[in-house]
Amino acid sequence: MNRDAPTLHLKPKKDGSLHRRHPWVYAGAVERVGGRPAAGDTVRVLGADGGFLAHAAFSPSSAIRARVWTFDEAETVDAAFVAARVHAAVARRAPLMPASDALRLVFGEADGLPGCVVDRYGDQLVVQFLSTGVERWRDTIVDALVAATGCAAVYERSDASAREREGLALRSGPIRGDVPAPVPIVEHGVRYRVDVVAGHKTGFYIDQRDSRALVREHAAGRRVLNCFCYTGGFTLAARHGGATEATSIDASGEALAMAAANERDNGFEAPSTWLQANVFDALKTLLAEGRQFDLIVLDPPKFAPSAQHVDAAARAYKEINLKALRLLAPGGLLFTFSCSGAIDADLFRRIVAGAVVDARVDAQLLRHLAAGIDHPMAMTHPEGEYLKGLMLRRM
Ligand code: SAH
Repeated sequence: MNRDAPTLHLKPKKDGSLHRRHPWVYAGAVERVGGRPAAGDTVRVLGADGGFLAHAAFSPSSAIRARVWTFDEAETVDAAFVAARVHAAVARRAPLMPASDALRLVFGEADGLPGCVVDRYGDQLVVQFLSTGVERWRDTIVDALVAATGCAAVYERSDASAREREGLALRSGPIRGDVPAPVPIVEHGVRYRVDVVAGHKTGFYIDQRDSRALVREHAAGRRVLNCFCYTGGFTLAARHGGATEATSIDASGEALAMAAANERDNGFEAPSTWLQANVFDALKTLLAEGRQFDLIVLDPPKFAPSAQHVDAAARAYKEINLKALRLLAPGGLLFTFSCSGAIDADLFRRIVAGAVVDARVDAQLLRHLAAGIDHPMAMTHPEGEYLKGLMLRRM
């Protein structure tokens, strides 16, 4: 504990969220800053009465002015503290190791490392430092990761826009080891190559592991349509599960090239159909052609990057779900997702229910879907929830 640390004094009545153990201090809640903390320095957050609330990382240019390290005044935020958080996060993922070579080892606030994301692909680690606090402890975190995992290669993908909101420049490149070639991984027996340098996010949608396994379980004998297929995640799961045919759509030629290569890597001699198109147009064409499918996956990009985009996003989600429901044969299954944090699970369900009504079909909700348990959410930080999905059956 460091009593000489700089301080963040909150305005009266602005301490409620910290008492509820929410890990963010918004700029509007701050009355004044005591001392001269630099970006990423640890500050003592104090209530209007001067009482201690938390140790937090200071972020002078962000709307989130500080992110909490700990609510325990007796703790000291130093290299040992940060390294212990890394080791604990890695240890919590150990039970998942047999399922896949691709795991999220660290997930920000939920693992007590706000703004830090670490994914593991085989022996390659990929890190994102998306806040001033973890940026300040970058070397400590990398050393601890190498020690905790035994992985020697660490690649940085701190190129997400969240960094700009923190006043940090974008940065990517190797921290340990060389620039990696696409990394082969095996997830539940399915082989994929992951481009950690140029792929989306850190290269692969690790968060959909459980849902890919579920699609595989239900694919036998079905004609599959996978919309927004990226590098073929759901398509290959469905083929391994015995799908009779598969059509996959994405706008990106590079993603589709990787998808087709992944299909060959899995030993499927006959290629399935990979279509480079805008999904909104392609769904219209498929409907006009009178096509039918028995299993459809809709896993679009984030349509609502923030609260202002919710209305337009809701219309877009409704449109694709409506068309997918019309393309489903009776008894067909729809796996539909949203990764927009600004659209919560309840709103998403209402949007899809609206699509069911307008499609004039009957549908059953079979399951609520979410990211795997290597993507936890802190119970006091609902903003951490982003991926939600529904498994429906058309009657
Ligand atoms: N389901 C994938 C992840 C999807 S990511 C998986 O499990 O790996 C979203 C994908 O949608 C990206 O590959 C992006 O290229 C694609 N995309 C975005 N907008 C699109 C559009 N309008 N039409 C087709 N593809 C689109």
